[in-house]
Amino acid sequence: MDSPWYRSLAKAAIAGEILPHETYSTLLQDNSIELLSLIDAAFTVRKHFHGKTVTVHIINNVSNGLCSEDCNYCPQSKSSNAEIVEYPEKSKEEILEEARQAYEAGAYRYCMVYAGRRPSQKRTGRIADLVKTIKAQYPIEVCVSAGIMDENSTNMLKQAGLDRLNHNLNTSPAQYAKICTTHTFADRFKTLKAARSAGLEVCSGIIAGMGESAEELIELALMLRDLEAKSIPINFLLPIPGNKLETAQSLTPEYCLKILCLFRFINPQAEIRTAAGREYHLRSLEVMSLYPANSLFMDGYLNTRGKSRKETLQMIIDAGFTIKSDKSAKELLLREGKRIPRENSAAPDLKSDTELHPTRQEGLS
Ligand code: SF4
Repeated sequence: MDSPWYRSLAKAAIAGEILPHETYSTLLQDNSIELLSLIDAAFTVRKHFHGKTVTVHIINNVSNGLCSEDCNYCPQSKSSNAEIVEYPEKSKEEILEEARQAYEAGAYRYCMVYAGRRPSQKRTGRIADLVKTIKAQYPIEVCVSAGIMDENSTNMLKQAGLDRLNHNLNTSPAQYAKICTTHTFADRFKTLKAARSAGLEVCSGIIAGMGESAEELIELALMLRDLEAKSIPINFLLPIPGNKLETAQSLTPEYCLKILCLFRFINPQAEIRTAAGREYHLRSLEVMSLYPANSLFMDGYLNTRGKSRKETLQMIIDAGFTIKSDKSAKELLLREGKRIPRENSAAPDLKSDTELHPTRQEGLS
């Protein structure tokens, strides 16, 4: 592909236009795609709408495991034998203290996640109460993920001051029955519609690596565009031992970055978040995800650890990005007890004699 091809991707996205389906298919599948040129085009779009800021999200498992659903990628499912710590619901005090800590850690958004098919009326009432209290105490955005919801529930949460409701589409309509049999793609879609009609922002994303085709990824990106999703977490399947779906379809770091670029071009204004699997699948190319995406999770994911807070902040600073917060990433890093790069006085590790002569045998000079 020549330079004008990459430029046309950025130009169309900034103008709010959708290109022919084949263009997106080429982007994902054609071996002649130059990754750096593609990322540069996606970065042009990201910069246009989001500058060089990163929104940091911290996720809280308010309840963990014991879920009646059989989503085969999820360690919280009744069908999983993964060895996670299970608990029904944290206390109000614990959740509020964790909200405070998230705010102090520079989180732009605090995400409260509940396992389960759908929340009872009582649970919805408790969530509404928590949202009200958090919003009154901290200047932080709040997102809730609590399963299937109808309009009564989404209206109640909107009135309590909730900013966003998360419910991931996860995979394409055609793949859905292969990853879950206890609820449908349509159930998920209806919840997102209920969130929209209550005036809540929609946060909905995918888990790549569950057997979907490139065409299906494009379909999902277009569906999220139609839903006007303000926030799109892109997860890459983590093969957790004990889960029914233990093996991720081969996701290379390059393909993961292409997926992030695809979602940026089709949803140019959305907050695209590199979510679970960032460290595991992107490996040495992890920092490159900041160019198409403008958001990430800090402090790990629901049941899996991620990079440390220090490493995440350091990566953001090293790449020349800033965080969307009333605190700077440098200030937060210093609070973590780490010096920022230019002031780094730690001496580099010097090699020993043996390391300098790996083939020299003992006793020989
Ligand atoms: S409904 Fe949510 S918590 Fe329950 S198994 Fe599915 S993804 Fe996991």
